[in-house]
Amino acid sequence: MIILSNLHTEQAGEWTRLVCDFEWNGDTPNPFTEKTIWFSMKKENEDFFSTRVYDPFLLVAYYVAMHYGQDLKICGKVSAKLYHNLTNYIQHIFLDFSDKLHPVKLHVEGFDTVEQDGALVGAGFSCGVDSLSTVYDRFVKETIPEYKINALFLFNCGGNGYIDKESTKALYQARYERNKKAADEMGLPLYQIQSNLHAFTGVLGIYKLTYLSNWSCVISVQKKVRRYYIASCLSYEEIISFHNIYHDHDLDEFCGMYLVPLIQTDALELIYDGAQHRRTEKVMNIADWEIAKKHLNVCLKEKDTAENCTTCEKCLRTCFTLDIIGKLDEFADVFDLQMYQKLRFKNICDTLCKCKNAPLSKDNIVFAKERNMKLPPIWFAHVYVFLKRAVNRLIGAENAKRLKAKFQRT
Ligand SMILES: [Zn+2]
Repeated sequence: MIILSNLHTEQAGEWTRLVCDFEWNGDTPNPFTEKTIWFSMKKENEDFFSTRVYDPFLLVAYYVAMHYGQDLKICGKVSAKLYHNLTNYIQHIFLDFSDKLHPVKLHVEGFDTVEQDGALVGAGFSCGVDSLSTVYDRFVKETIPEYKINALFLFNCGGNGYIDKESTKALYQARYERNKKAADEMGLPLYQIQSNLHAFTGVLGIYKLTYLSNWSCVISVQKKVRRYYIASCLSYEEIISFHNIYHDHDLDEFCGMYLVPLIQTDALELIYDGAQHRRTEKVMNIADWEIAKKHLNVCLKEKDTAENCTTCEKCLRTCFTLDIIGKLDEFADVFDLQMYQKLRFKNICDTLCKCKNAPLSKDNIVFAKERNMKLPPIWFAHVYVFLKRAVNRLIGAENAKRLKAKFQRT
């Protein structure tokens, strides 16, 4: 059995933590070194936390309990709605997602809700395409006050790497400063939440469970946040067509569109936003927005700065969409356009090769064809990529580059 108890707040430097004890009472060795689970916010925001319910700790602890086949005991109260959805519906979605999980029991000491005193409508803010498109739709264009974003959030709970690592601290700080600048320009507050949930999700596969950590961070501030937009990665149609390739790999892309609306408490509503658009439509949506032109950041490359590398798959994919609609030059502040031109043809061939099994590659190719962009035939793209890989393997990538430069000069 896994037991969560002793819910309280405590100070940790300039941060206030919402903490509970984590106890492993199973018949196998404890796979975790952490003795507590915590969320933290800057001290001036400590009134965002409530010690009335264990809601923010439930999602990850429940998944962990299912992974190890242990029942979960909460020494306190939880939201009736979250308990109801978790035990009746979410448990079965988790079982569909991963064959490694087992049904378990959840014991609680009754139900309660937070003393909600806020009316914040929040959204995560990363300056990526999904995030910016949601903010553009639900802040710039939204006309209903109850649904208009008035607060932005940034989480550090695994998505930037292990939070104790120096490289993670530097990357997170760089991302925070960039996002804060953009939030300031929009006149919106940007709140930070950190958590050690990665110490639990990391043992089970950090990538597939980072979403659970992010959604848990949202629940930790339900006292102030009434409504919160979760920006989707794929469209409804793409999730339906491709969800099986994300089985036990990516929770959001496997089932986000029907899982997220079930992650509710009696005080908080999560809205899955963005699945009404394909990724290319989201890029089009924000392509004329000055905030996007100055701050768009999509980079996947592991480094300790927040710039786009214009060489990784995500950077090139975004540049390709902007290229198709003829707006790439307007994004010269955030992408290295010379680098893109160097990699453009190879990227188009790579995208053509992947478009059968990768929804976002397929999206770009369909988008290019709809706009009559001239593309090489798929057979040519396969031959090109195959030969390029073979030459790289044969003489090394650096020698291949030198050879190419020599040919281009002559
Ligand atoms: Zn990149």
